[in-house]
Formats: sequence, C-alpha cells, structure tokens
Amino acid sequence: MQPKTPEEVEAIRRSGRILNTVRDEVAQAAKPGVSTRELADMTREKLKAHGGEPAFAGYMGFPDVVCISVNDQVVHGVPGSYVLGEGDLVSIDLGVLYQGMITDSAVTVVTGDQRPTGKVRTLLKATEESLYAGIDQVKPGERVGDIGNSVQRRLLRDNLSIVETLVGHGVGHEVHEQPEIPNFGMAGTGSMLKEGMTIAIEPMATLGGKTVHTESDGLTISTSDHSLSAHFEHTVLVTRDGFEILT
Ligand code: MG
Ligand code: MG
Repeated sequence: MQPKTPEEVEAIRRSGRILNTVRDEVAQAAKPGVSTRELADMTREKLKAHGGEPAFAGYMGFPDVVCISVNDQVVHGVPGSYVLGEGDLVSIDLGVLYQGMITDSAVTVVTGDQRPTGKVRTLLKATEESLYAGIDQVKPGERVGDIGNSVQRRLLRDNLSIVETLVGHGVGHEVHEQPEIPNFGMAGTGSMLKEGMTIAIEPMATLGGKTVHTESDGLTISTSDHSLSAHFEHTVLVTRDGFEILT
C-alpha cells in the first residue's frame, strides 16, 4: 500500500469524524422495538446530513448502507425486518466515503437497560480491549504480525475463539486494500507498517467455536455453532511515531 498524501490524510480524517458521529448515534438508537431496517434508514439520513456517503452500498453486492449483525451473526448482516429485542448483541459496521477517502469502523452493543453480565460482558470487554491492544502496536517499522499477536493474546486470555477467516485490512481509496491484518499471528512477521498508511483493525471473537459460514442470503456470516460473537473496528493512521485513531 502506498502511504497516503497529506491531502488524502486530511480527507480521511474528516471521513473518520463523520463515521464516528454517525456510528455512535446509530448505536445509541439500537433499542428493543427498533428494526434493523430502521437503523439503516437512520444511518442513511445521518450520513447525508453530515456530507458523507455510504462506502458499503453496492460493495461486493451489499444492498444497504450499513452492516448490522445480531447475536450469532458475526459480520455483513443485511438490515431488514428483524426487530431488536431485550439483550440482543448488535454489531454496527459502517464505511464512510468523503472526498474520495474511505474509513471503516464497527462497535457491538447490547440492547435494553440490563447491563451485560457474565460471559457476554467478557466477550464485549475482551474484544474491545483486543482492538486497542492491536492499535497500541501501530508504529512505523512494526509489522502486521505484531498487531495480530497482540489482539490474539488479549482474546485468548479470556478463552474466546478468534474468527480467523475474517481479517482487518488497509483502507482509504478502497474499502479493502493491502495488507491483510489477521487477528492472530507471530510478532515480528508480516508486512511492515509505514508512516501514512491507513489500516482497519477489526477483531471478531466468539463465545463458542471459531468456525463461521455464509447464510443463504450470500452475505451474512454467522458462527456455525450459533454462539454469540462481537466485533470492534477502528481505522488507524500510522503516524511518524505511532498512531492516530481516525474513527
Ligand atoms: Mg467494517
Ligand atoms: Mg473492515
């Protein structure tokens, strides 16, 4: 991947700011009684209001503006008639295009007033912390394997399974650019990070096994044992001496 120019970095920063705002507003609206279709419609309107475009619309045949994956769905869930209930685990994964530059980010939230407890709490906490453990490795000269290894160690500390067939990636001009960024690996191996690269780090973990499959819609990816999964993602810029989280 070519490092981004200063002009591109400025545009991707603004793309990330729009994403951050819309993602958090939509995540807050994920409540019992709300359908995933309504969340997608809200996303579309908010993106428009902030001057951003949905980067996922039409990408690889995706028919909507945001991926909403509930419970055993890991990623690429298609918004529809499903009405959220109490205690659903909802992943909102959004891509934003602004002045030609794309950012990509996801959060997972639990619906309803009950705070998550036990294994669900562990799943959410560890997956989010593993994202930051990976981000902490980002620095020119470090390698993709340093990120993956750090993510992996955090997830395994809580005995979670890592979805190994889905990976993070470079991002910017396209939704998916090189290099791939697995959520596991050996420190000191893989592509080297350079100043100006923009990458999406996105751990996906489950309470059961690591095996996933594609549903009959051809898009939604779910855990094969129907165990719950969580997904957190940020787009990160490699800076001269470390990183800047753009989303
Ligand atoms: Mg994403
Ligand atoms: Mg991504």
